[in-house]
Amino acid sequence: MFLTISTTGSPERPATDLGYLLHKHPGKAQAFSTSHGTAQVFYPEATDQRCTAALLLEVDPIALVRRGQGKGRGGAPDSALAQYVNDRPYAASSLLAVALSGVFRNALKGQCAARPELPEQALRLRIEIPVLPARGGAELVHRLFDPLGWDRVETRPVVLDEQFPEWGDSRYVRLVLEGELRLADALRQLYVLLPVLDDAKHYWIAPDEVDKLLRAGDGWLAGHPEHGLISSRYLARHKGLTRNALERLELVRLAEADGAEVEDLDNAVDEASDTPERPTPLAVLRREAILAALRSAGAARVLDLGCGQGQLVQALLGDVSFTEIVGVDVSMRALSVAAKRLRLERMGERQSERVRLLQGSLAYTDRRLAGYDAAVLSEVIEHLDLERLPALEYAVFGSARPRTVLVTTPNVEYNVRWETLPAGHVRHGDHRFEWTREEFRDWAAAVARRHGYTVGFVPVGDDDPEVGPPTQMAVFTRTDATAASAGTTAGATTTETPKEGEAA
Ligand code: SAH
Repeated sequence: MFLTISTTGSPERPATDLGYLLHKHPGKAQAFSTSHGTAQVFYPEATDQRCTAALLLEVDPIALVRRGQGKGRGGAPDSALAQYVNDRPYAASSLLAVALSGVFRNALKGQCAARPELPEQALRLRIEIPVLPARGGAELVHRLFDPLGWDRVETRPVVLDEQFPEWGDSRYVRLVLEGELRLADALRQLYVLLPVLDDAKHYWIAPDEVDKLLRAGDGWLAGHPEHGLISSRYLARHKGLTRNALERLELVRLAEADGAEVEDLDNAVDEASDTPERPTPLAVLRREAILAALRSAGAARVLDLGCGQGQLVQALLGDVSFTEIVGVDVSMRALSVAAKRLRLERMGERQSERVRLLQGSLAYTDRRLAGYDAAVLSEVIEHLDLERLPALEYAVFGSARPRTVLVTTPNVEYNVRWETLPAGHVRHGDHRFEWTREEFRDWAAAVARRHGYTVGFVPVGDDDPEVGPPTQMAVFTRTDATAASAGTTAGATTTETPKEGEAA
């Protein structure tokens, strides 16, 4: 099994920088033992102009058989011989993907301690895989790689036997990819797509395969037109895991759409207004209302669920009464923007002990979220499909159960006051729904009833006599905590107490 990665240099950057990125010195040939054989890394060429790294994996077929993993394709099916005589040693299968992730671990993660700026840069790359097993043929190879930003995706069928051209082509292709990409992105694509094309995953599919897939797919998989096929094959057609992966990818896609649309209409409208006294942007008013409610609840340890790009986390850090702040989001991209905004890397020890960012989906219960004083869901619920809301409700109010929960969401009645919003439109392309005040109250009251909370409501922004405020906020307080923290609902306009015997 063989794979080469080449790059060309430029006046600013010698091609041999590839060695830094791969963490493998161009002057040395190195061998690594992997669970399926020996991986060798060496450089057939290494000049300032051109540098090529080769990864050669020598698979030990006997060892594969001993591990019960030799049943790859390429041999007579179901025959004892197929265990010993098969394509595994020769074709760039999932075994190569595993070796790739082991030998080039840091490169896959986009880490380079010696030259931290390098992984961020796109390089002129050429990747060649002489024998790629491709169930689905060259056509599928194109469907998988064409959308990924390569300038050239070239596939050439490998003939079954050069001596007997009449036998036709084998099911293997020679693949060449050329383009300007970050090395980490290219390697992560291969890590996922080699086993997908091979479609004979050799290892046990554990539940954490979904996490691996999402990590390796960050930035390219959610938006890929074939993400369904990729997930299903990568997870060896395991139905439950595939469904889980697709749900999470859907959330990532939504979150990415969000990130692209930095300018939320709520804010854009305010910025567009020309009045000499610019009104405070609604996003700022919302943050102030949230901070005030958290302070009056006496919360010190706070979860920001669906923290997005970290604006609220940043505001919370500015007040020492918040001793522990955890931002949670499903989108890695949003979290990495948040980490930059907060300068997490450069933060002093005192500060960095106060704050953490976690990736997670609010549609699943998560033990890491238990035991906090308060949780904030600021402009998050409307991004979930209505049928997924009960899952979020259970994860937050049933499982994590903080003493205080703040939920903000747009008040759809107010939309008629936005001059730039066409009638009947929601404020943001990704909003799955927008509620009237009554709808929000009904939902919140039912949630409170089901989970042992009381709830009050606070208007945020200009509270229009007719249509109400642009943002509505619900303040939930766990019933068994009400006595301990009197004044929790200060500022609330109404308080609904759960009524005994009322069905949810
Ligand atoms: N709270 C921020 C961001 C709101 S945008 C603010 O008030 O500005 C909605 C955020 O919710 C996005 O960052 C999106 O990634 C996140 N999100 C949507 N569905 C989610 C889910 N199921 N689990 C976790 N986060 C989710």
